[in-house]
Amino acid sequence: MRKERLAYFRKCLLEKQRQLTEEVGRTAIYGKDQEDDSIKDLGDQANTAYNREFFFELGNGDRRLLRDVVSALQKMDDGGFGSCERCGEPIAEKRLEALPFARYCIDCQRLVEQEERMATG
Ligand SMILES: [Zn+2]
Repeated sequence: MRKERLAYFRKCLLEKQRQLTEEVGRTAIYGKDQEDDSIKDLGDQANTAYNREFFFELGNGDRRLLRDVVSALQKMDDGGFGSCERCGEPIAEKRLEALPFARYCIDCQRLVEQEERMATG
């Protein structure tokens, strides 16, 4: 993947991560109607323990999303970004544009979802 494309996806992922993190910071710590300036300090406190709180407080869908976003950023550092975690084939860029945190190519995604449905009954 070209460097400019990678940079673009990284920006998308960081933005998504920020959104999710802020969302949780508001709802989990201050409550929705108690916003004040102290929220701005949240970013500085985002250490590991704090992130664990976020993961805990997030709803299932959001928690999973944030986890995928973080792991996509990790893969970017490791050089594995854009490859399917299951079959290793490149994920279509169109798919990454819609879901920069996608872990699987479209075919594997279907299989994974099928397996999850079977696992949960
Ligand atoms: Zn695949």
